[in-house]
Formats: sequence, C-alpha cells, structure tokens
Amino acid sequence: MTRRFDGKRLLVATHNRGKLEEIADLLKPFAVEVVGAAEMGLPEPEETGTTFVENARIKAHAAAKATGLPALSDDSGIAIDALDGAPGVYTADWAETETGRDFVMAMEKTRNALLDSGAAEPWTARFCCTLVLAWPDGSDEVFPGVMEGRVVWPMRGDQGHGYDPIFQPEAYDITFGEMDRWEKNRISHRADAFRKFVKGCFA
Ligand code: IMP
Repeated sequence: MTRRFDGKRLLVATHNRGKLEEIADLLKPFAVEVVGAAEMGLPEPEETGTTFVENARIKAHAAAKATGLPALSDDSGIAIDALDGAPGVYTADWAETETGRDFVMAMEKTRNALLDSGAAEPWTARFCCTLVLAWPDGSDEVFPGVMEGRVVWPMRGDQGHGYDPIFQPEAYDITFGEMDRWEKNRISHRADAFRKFVKGCFA
C-alpha cells in the first residue's frame, strides 16, 4: 500500500537544475513546497548502483536521512537498443569531462557508438525514469516511467536539457529539444513516473 504524502515540504534530491525545474513544474498543482538538494547544502552521493531504481534509492535515502524530510529522487537515462541498453544508468557519465558535463560531446559519443555498431536506423531507444520517495523512517515508494522513441542525428532544438536534441519521441516528428517544455512535461518518461507518484501519494 502506497503511503500518502501529507507534509508541507518535499525535498527533491537532485543537483541537476533541469530536473529540479521539471519536477517543480509537475508539482505546481499541489500545495507542497519544493526544496532542492543544493539549496539544503547536501552533498551528491555516489551513484554506485547498476539499475535506475538502485541509484534512485541511494539518492532519496541519503537526502531523507540527512534532513528528516521526505525526499524524492529521480534516476534516469536513455537506453538505446542497438547499444544493448547503453548508456542506461551511465547516461550522465558519458557527458563527464574534467571541467564538468558536456552534453554535446555525449551526444556525439552516442552517435559515434551507433555508427560503430553498424546498426541500421531507426535507432530505437527509450528514456527511463525511476522516481523514489524515501520517508525519513527508511521506507520508500518506487515509481517507474518510460518514453519510447528513437535517436536521431543531427541534434535539433535548444529546449530542455541533456540528450533532448537527439531524442525523437514516438509519434512525433520533432525532438524533445524542439518541444515546448509543457508538452514535454505532459508526455515524458518523468511525467509517466510522476503520474504514478501523484496517484499513489497525492490523489
Ligand atoms: P542521473 O539520473 O542524475 O544519473 O542522470 C541522468 C542523465 O540522463 C541526465 O544527466 C541526462 O543527461 C539524461 N536525461 C535524463 N532525463 C532526460 C531528459 O528528460 N532529457 C534529456 N536527458 C535526460
């Protein structure tokens, strides 16, 4: 049985500004104050899991334990069929450089891996998102979400974040990078997981 959220403040356990903004938008209809992990001065825990749910649990529980607040985390990434599900949980790592994350480089790396694989287009893929709400008592709720689509090249659009310019969601001829943020927030993997979270904890 999913526990209902009846507090006033929800800690969103992410240091990723793009994600925090998306989650804050999605929570707007509910009377809940959203606080970010950076705002609370929390360190970024190491994501040592090999699945989205393991990593989401690490982040949510670390934040709930440190603050005593219910904490919502998101672990997400893109899984590409021709790359056997890569980059998957390592999606952010593919963007890592000595001076921070570079997503243009990560998207070029993705395209090069696809060309090296010899796989024919369409390069089917999905964005996955697992939300975990950790309660301060150590229990949690898990909500998975998915958006099917494909990887396209060249990059298109300057909206959104991360790999948005090379992901074209199913039934659309524009990329997430070309999509208005409200539309993306209606259909995305995060919106899918979020609907389940809202149904379980708020509705
Ligand atoms: P993590 O969940 O913090 O490990 O990072 C997941 C990574 O997946 C992000 O840094 C983004 O690069 C990518 N990602 C997740 N969701 C999206 C999305 O909605 N659009 C574009 N990239 C995303």
